[in-house]
Amino acid sequence: MKVICVGRNYAQHARELNNPIPERPILFMKPHSAILRNNQPFSLPAFSKQVEYEVEVVLRIGRNGKDIAEQDALKYINGVGIGIDFTARDLQQQLKEKGHPWEIAKAFDHSAPVSDFLNRDSLPDLGQLDFSLVRNGETVQTGNTADMLFSIPRLIAYASKFFTLNIGDLLFTGTPAGVGTVASGDKLEAWLNHQKLLTCDIK
Ligand code: ZN
Repeated sequence: MKVICVGRNYAQHARELNNPIPERPILFMKPHSAILRNNQPFSLPAFSKQVEYEVEVVLRIGRNGKDIAEQDALKYINGVGIGIDFTARDLQQQLKEKGHPWEIAKAFDHSAPVSDFLNRDSLPDLGQLDFSLVRNGETVQTGNTADMLFSIPRLIAYASKFFTLNIGDLLFTGTPAGVGTVASGDKLEAWLNHQKLLTCDIK
């Protein structure tokens, strides 16, 4: 399975990193080894001094498909969860400045904690989902999928032009504003539709 991620899908987050608003979705991938499940703790890696959290709605693919039409896209989702796209921002910045791929800053081991998934049918409107991240008891990020630059159907249609979607693949749909650095001892809690679905202690 693979994890497809979307960069800069919320305008305020693009602005906070001084990035332009993209004309098309910006996609990147994380390998299976990036996934962290069951509320396991995350150990800060030695290669970065600035690991940042990015809370994101995560979609689980329930059908194989390629070149999926936007109007059919929602049929390909069978679960909705919440995840964190951990990013080694210092490494990413250095690599971006050189114009190099920033894979190692995004796709490293355990960089993608993800919750259990809610049945897609239990959520009436995927285009109106509230989500948030709480760090040490304080809400640091809030978002609503209505504010995406590229909607969920658009993301699935676009990604499936390039990558066949397979059952069990995950799609991280981008982070809203408010990203910040984590430190050892932090406790992160991620909420979707007013349910706490994910906890991640930073070691
Ligand atoms: Zn992200």
